[in-house]
Amino acid sequence: MDKNNNKNPRRNFIKNTGLGMGGVILAPSLLSFTEQESVNIARDNKKLGIALVGLGRYSTNQLAPALEKTKNCRLSGIVTGSPSKEKAWKKKYKLPDSNIYNYENFDEIAGNEDIDIVYVVLPISMHKEFTIRAAKAKKHVICEKPMALNAEEAQQMVKACKDNGVLLAIGYRLHFEPFNQRVMELGQQEVFGKVKSIKAVDNSNMTGGSLDLWRLDKERAGGGPLMDLGIYCVQAAIYTMGKPPVAVRAKFGEVTHPAYFRDVEQSITWEMEFDEGVVANCEASYADEEEKNSLSGKAEDGWWKLEPAYSYEGKKGETSNGKMEFPNIYEQVKQMDAQAESFRNNQNPKTPGEMGLRDMKILMAIYNSAKKEGTRVEITY
Ligand code: NAD
Repeated sequence: MDKNNNKNPRRNFIKNTGLGMGGVILAPSLLSFTEQESVNIARDNKKLGIALVGLGRYSTNQLAPALEKTKNCRLSGIVTGSPSKEKAWKKKYKLPDSNIYNYENFDEIAGNEDIDIVYVVLPISMHKEFTIRAAKAKKHVICEKPMALNAEEAQQMVKACKDNGVLLAIGYRLHFEPFNQRVMELGQQEVFGKVKSIKAVDNSNMTGGSLDLWRLDKERAGGGPLMDLGIYCVQAAIYTMGKPPVAVRAKFGEVTHPAYFRDVEQSITWEMEFDEGVVANCEASYADEEEKNSLSGKAEDGWWKLEPAYSYEGKKGETSNGKMEFPNIYEQVKQMDAQAESFRNNQNPKTPGEMGLRDMKILMAIYNSAKKEGTRVEITY
């Protein structure tokens, strides 16, 4: 069956041709949206247009090259504050002037039929603003992790997307990656019996580099390695268990590089407690020379370990039954193709805004516990 089959033509916004089913011309102005209806996009086989907002390292080195390989979407626009980047990107990706925006005129994207999806790839403090502006422009949104500075912001973003009839996905690429998908199976399907414990570590080393980074600035980053890297551990523990934790306990690590970590934590360790008493022990640091990055689990009758678990490339995995044999894939290609397909089919994506909101509640509970020297903090969702 054609997966692009139109199951609900009344709700579809046939924007590319103006032709509805049966060749009836539908004036776009008559296709107004109610709160319950979603913006829908053409269900022909055309690739959906994505505009990247923020052309930093992740957009430049990962997402834009990935968009040259995607089947369901393509790079059709950019939003940037740097005129020099405009020029370079326009030339490299053959973008028309009409698809290039800056942060001020971004809202004009509403009238651009070449752009179906806005992908927010900015410092965290800007995620809320650009997600809400994109939603008001009736564009589906992919927002990078972590979703926002706090749970209140995340809630507002989810609401704005709902109110404007657009879908919201978080850029959690590991849900589309075979090694991590296998861990989801091992844990959730109890392949080695019930999970007994989890360990997740995601450390990098920011010391020795620039001091002038938004990641070191609480106002723009919301926090330190917990926000940027610890989110992978939070996600990993949850997708191992298939459910969120009931409580957390956390402690900030010692600051050994005060020049870097005046504003955000240098490192943090925390426990996530699941019902039935399973505990995930987690760690995130910006000052680990070894840059450890792993996810392991112990179950009643076996164990598994991914290392590296979260990097873009080179993942390796082992279980008590032997080596995991999976290809290393271009996960951003898989991620964006899957998200574009769910937008096209008007289905909630696999990593929806609600998942990002849930995770923000957990991150905030971890910070609350760390501020109280490791007091157990229960989480309500
Ligand atoms: P970056 O610093 O390389 O790029 C940030 C971009 O935002 C730059 O183009 C910069 O010019 C622009 N910007 C606009 N206003 C700014 C301001 N006030 N301060 C600083 N920069 C400003 O960052 P990045 O590594 O590309 O990260 C961007 C987003 O992508 C973050 O949310 C990050 O967590 C996420 N990310 C996700 C992954 C992943 O694997 N999913 C990997 C890397 C980054």
